[in-house]
This record gives sequence, structure tokens and C-alpha cells, in this order.
Amino acid sequence: MNLFETIYTGSNQALDAAEGLFKKAIDEKGKDAKVGFPETAYSLPIIYAATGQKIQTLGELEGAINVVKSLIDEQPRLEPALNAGLATAVAAEIIEAIKYTLEETPYQAPCSGHITDATIRSLGVPLVTGDIPGVAVVLGECPDSETAAKIIKDYQSKGLLTCLVGKVIDQAIEANVKMGLELRVLPLGYDVTSVIHIVSVAIRASLIFGGVEPGKLAEHMEYTAKRVPAFVNAFGPLSELVVSCGAGAIALGFPVITDQKVLEVPTLLLTQKDYDKVVATSLEARGIKIKVTEIPIPVGFAAAFEGERVRKDDLYAEFGGNKTECWELVTSKELSEIEDHKIEIIGPDIDEVDGEPKRLPLAIMVEVAGKNMQEDFEPVLERRIHYFMNYTEGVMHVGQRDTTWLRISKDTYASGFRLKHIGEVLYAKMMDEFDSVVDKCQVTIITDAEKVAEMKKANAEAKYTARDERLASLTDESVDTFYSCLLCQSFAPAHVCIVTPERLGLCGAVSWLDAKATKELDPSGPCQPIAKEGIEDEVKGIWSAVNEHVEEKSQGAVSRVTLYSLLEDPMTSCGCFECIAGIMPEANGIVIVNREFAATTPVGMTFGELASMTGGGVQTPGFMGHGRFFISSKKFISAEGGPQRIVWMPKELKDHVQDKLNETAKEMYGIDNFTDMICDETIATDPEEVLNFLTEKGHPALTMDSIMSSMEG
Ligand code: SF4
Ligand code: ZN
Repeated sequence: MNLFETIYTGSNQALDAAEGLFKKAIDEKGKDAKVGFPETAYSLPIIYAATGQKIQTLGELEGAINVVKSLIDEQPRLEPALNAGLATAVAAEIIEAIKYTLEETPYQAPCSGHITDATIRSLGVPLVTGDIPGVAVVLGECPDSETAAKIIKDYQSKGLLTCLVGKVIDQAIEANVKMGLELRVLPLGYDVTSVIHIVSVAIRASLIFGGVEPGKLAEHMEYTAKRVPAFVNAFGPLSELVVSCGAGAIALGFPVITDQKVLEVPTLLLTQKDYDKVVATSLEARGIKIKVTEIPIPVGFAAAFEGERVRKDDLYAEFGGNKTECWELVTSKELSEIEDHKIEIIGPDIDEVDGEPKRLPLAIMVEVAGKNMQEDFEPVLERRIHYFMNYTEGVMHVGQRDTTWLRISKDTYASGFRLKHIGEVLYAKMMDEFDSVVDKCQVTIITDAEKVAEMKKANAEAKYTARDERLASLTDESVDTFYSCLLCQSFAPAHVCIVTPERLGLCGAVSWLDAKATKELDPSGPCQPIAKEGIEDEVKGIWSAVNEHVEEKSQGAVSRVTLYSLLEDPMTSCGCFECIAGIMPEANGIVIVNREFAATTPVGMTFGELASMTGGGVQTPGFMGHGRFFISSKKFISAEGGPQRIVWMPKELKDHVQDKLNETAKEMYGIDNFTDMICDETIATDPEEVLNFLTEKGHPALTMDSIMSSMEG
């Protein structure tokens, strides 16, 4: 059989399987049975993207099966062969969707099956920052477990998200590869068709971040090819079905690298029989470049270790966590005051104390100097300590400042990791990530209890207070420059975040100080200053300079943006927002829901459904993505009356913002304990019950001007 025949055979097999399962499901559940994946607003995302149709019932799948048939046109040419690959993808989605109709939970741990919209949104920032440089799909079976583990761990150490399909999952388990989304190794499922769950992620990226319209398949394919840095490794004997899946991957722009002999198609279908070279060949084929910093420590260092926990049983040494004092501080000094790369330990090291686990107080002091260093950047650098520590294999870091909690695992200790290695990590990363502001760096690590306490009083406390005061004094009025952030344009080409002291980026990860530091670090990079000029409306937050900047940076897609209005030219959304606000007309207010909350809100939609109303850099009056921190800002939708419009939030979010929001409400409206007036899911989600609660509490929104009239007006 030649390559084309193999592909068509595979596509027809997929079609037969889909038809067979479809008939079985109809017999068992009837035509009207619901079909769809959990926690997505896009129904069957691939079919939705391809046809514009949101399939809801089993009966409607008949049309999708016809789509599969129409895509198979058995001619010995590349284009129809790639279409047949897409047919296999659609057939696979039908099969996987029916699995969710026939069973409540068709996938069991460690396999993930379907991936939710919220998860995809949470991957937005790491993908745009290059923290996750790409997505590897490893399918099939390696010659042995060691080979599988070696390849997977190599991707993991480079920060890629690796999805596993088929027997390679068992090989990874056998070789003790640590798995889970937080470790960036995600087993999808054992059936070949489960690969569709990652294809679905790529397609939803196009819908969510790209704002590409459903039904425009060619544009979706262009988006995935251009913007989703994924590729496939197919190991072991290739069945016809696998080959036709591979054709589907290639159609979406994802190269396939296999250990089998195939008819190679340059840059798209490659053979690499040397397993030591598979990773390099794959990264090169997809054009993924990995930045490496060599750090002289005895354990691994990679972003993929970020989510790794050090649990009680693995615990060797512990600092902080309410048991001992533990704090960290970055300060700037004069160049002459710093001895570059000096790492000093004051007090006992972790192999010099008794007890199990070893418990010590700890102070981490990082001192930096550089011509372009500014005091304002100190907290920006300091917050990175959290990440640098977590990226270290077997080290866990929680909290910040004097709430820091640090754990070192037994394995990491046994590999030879000592306190000086903390210094090595911080030195290397500060010099590397902040190279344009840090010319010299020294690290002091103190475990001597007296000294830890003394230095805290002498150094840290005053710094923390001064920074808090600086942050509190930072208002939109007090600065003459705002910043734009364009990082997410790699996924949402027309999206521009405007970052002000009181409004952080919608992902929650970029504050005004971060943006300012980013501009200094990378002058022509993603954050650009906007002189705050040409005020048009102070309440709505309209500046002509902001409008001009947005128009230029969005390539003309958006020409007017208000900073403080939900209804008039609200800021656009890329898709990775922490929260979304939407109007609840009956309550004359708004509900806010965070990404982590999966249930339905009082407006009858879930986070995902609300979120799907906006994104891709489009303005959608009435819906707005934003960061958690923005909620308690005095500028939050001040055009519509400010935070007192908030009538409902999930409990967890409400608790999270409580202190700050209550403070704001007290100051702005003289209301005590405002959050007690805000409804949450533990009180009610039914609109009528929510209204009853608000009435009972005398919620201010009920007596405010109609929120809808400001929309019409
Ligand atoms: Fe993306 Fe906006 Fe966050 Fe920048 S600030 S990373 S553009 S969401
Ligand atoms: Zn984004």
C-alpha cells in the first residue's frame, strides 16, 4: 500500500468506527440524548470550528458523519489526503464525544481525556511568555520504557507540554515518570482517537484566543499552523488509523516525526530512528527554540518542575510554613557595594542539623546592582524568587516576603543539593532574566536564628512597608505613563492590554510595575509606554493617546478603548483572563466569575460560556475579562457606578478579594462589610433567589440608575 492508500484506509476505518458507535449509541440512548464534552462552551469543538454547528444531541451527529464522508475523496494527491486526515479527526471527535454520552466518566486517572476550556485559558500566559515553548504529542510505543522516559523527561526539562497517547503511557508509568498537567506530562488516553483531545485544544485556541469564526475551517487551519507550536512523535508500528491521524496533524500544520520508515515529506513527515535525536529533530521541525541556562546544581532545573509538590514523606528540610521564621528580600545597591557571584551562608547548612525533618529559620537576601536598576524593580525581581525556587527539582516554594515556606526533598538532598545551590540558582537566573538591569548580584543565605530575626528588623521590614506605601500611592492619577502589553498577540493578534497602576493586565500576571520593568529590560519588547495625554473622559477613562496607541498596536482592529467602562468600548480580551464580568439585568448589576469556578452562574452561563462571548481581541460591550486584583480597584467599572454593581461572585473569589474590596467600598460609598451583601453559590444561583437575597441585604445596585440605560444611551 502506498502512503495515500494507507491514509484513505485509515480514514475509512475511522468513519466505520464512528458510524458503528453512533448506531449503538442511538439504540441505547435514543436520538435526543445529549452529546458534548464537559466544561466547554464549544460543544464538539472541531466540528464546531469546521461547520459552525454546535451539536447538542446524538441525532445531530448524523450530519457530522456526513461531513466525514464528504472529506474523504480518494485521490492520489496531497491535498485530498490531508482532507482525509481531517476526516479522521472529525470521526475521532464523534467517537470520543459518544464515549461521554455512554459513560459519565469515560477516562480514569492518570488519563485526562477531554481538556476543559478553563485549562486552555490557564495555559495562555505560559505559552505566550515561552515558559511553555511548545506541545509534544507522543503517540504509540517506544522500544522500551527507558527510551520513552528519556524522551518525555527531555521534553519536560525543556518546559514543553507533553501529551501521551497509547502504550507509551504504561511505559512512562513503568519508568516512574511523574505525570500530571502541573508537571506538563499529560496522558490523554490509550485509544488512538483520544489524541483528538489535544487537537481540540489547538482548535479551541483558535476560537478562544484567535477569535476565528466557527465555520471557517481554512482560517482555523491557518491559525493552528502559524500559532500553535505543536508536533507529533509517532512511535512503533504505524497502523492505517495512526497514519491517517498523522495526515490530520499535518493538515493542521503539526509535523510528524516517527521512528518508522515512511515516505518522508520535507519538514512535515520525517523519520528519525535514533532515539537520542528525536527531541532535537522534532523541535527543529516545528521551529521551537529552547533557551538554556546552565546552572551548577546537582538536580534538574526547568519550568516543568513548577507544579511539583514536596510532600511530608519526601521531606528532608523545611523552612518557614509557620514553624520557623522565613523571609526573602531583593534590594538594589551601588555597583561598588556588590561582589559579583558571591554566595555567603551564615549559620548551619542542611546537613549540619538534627531532627527529621530538618527545620531551620531562613533568610534569602539577593542584592543586585546595575546602571539601569531602579528601586521600583526590586519587588518585580523578588517575586521571581518564587518561580526560580520552584523550577528547581525537588524544591517547593510557597508564599512570598515573610510568609515564605520552602521545602527540600530527600531525593534532592541525596543528590547533593545544599544551601549554596539556592544561591547558585538565584544568581544565575537573576543575571539571565534581568540581564539589562542587573550587572552584578550577590546572595546571602542565613539560617542562624538570631541573625535571621535581626536582619529582618534591620532590613526587610522597612523595605516591605515602604513598598506597600509606594503601591498604595500608585494611582492612575499619580503617574504620567501607562503601558500596553502585547504579549498575547502571538495568540490573539488584535489584542492590546492597557496596564495602569490601578488596573493590571487581565491575566493577573502583569502589574504596572511589571510592565515598567519589562520595558526597561526589553526596550522594543511587549510592553510599551503610553504618555497619558488627551483626556476625553475621566470617569470612563478615555485618553486620546490610549486610543491612538491601541489603534496602532491592534493594526486598526480597535480604535477606541475606555479603561473604566464595561459597556462603552470595553478593553478587549485575549482569552487568558482570570475572571469575567457580565451584566445581570434583573439585579441591575454584574456577576463576576473566576476561571476555577465550573458551575453555572445566575446569568445562566458558566465561566466558559461567558468567556466564549469575548476573546480574540474583540470588544464585547457587557462582557469583560479582567484580573482578580482589579475587582477591588476604585477604577473597576467606575463608569457604571464602580464595584457596588457587583451582585454575585463565587465564594472562593469573594473570600479572596474580601479585605481589599470591603476597604474600597467603605472608602467609596461608606458601606461596611460590602462583601456580605454580595451573593455567592453557597447562598443562591437561581436569579430569583439571588434577587431575594440582594433585597434582604439592601444591596446598593438595586436602587442605582438602570445599568441597561447606560448601555442604550
Ligand atoms: Fe497577555 Fe494582557 Fe497578560 Fe500581557 S497583560 S500577558 S497581553 S493578558
Ligand atoms: Zn492573554
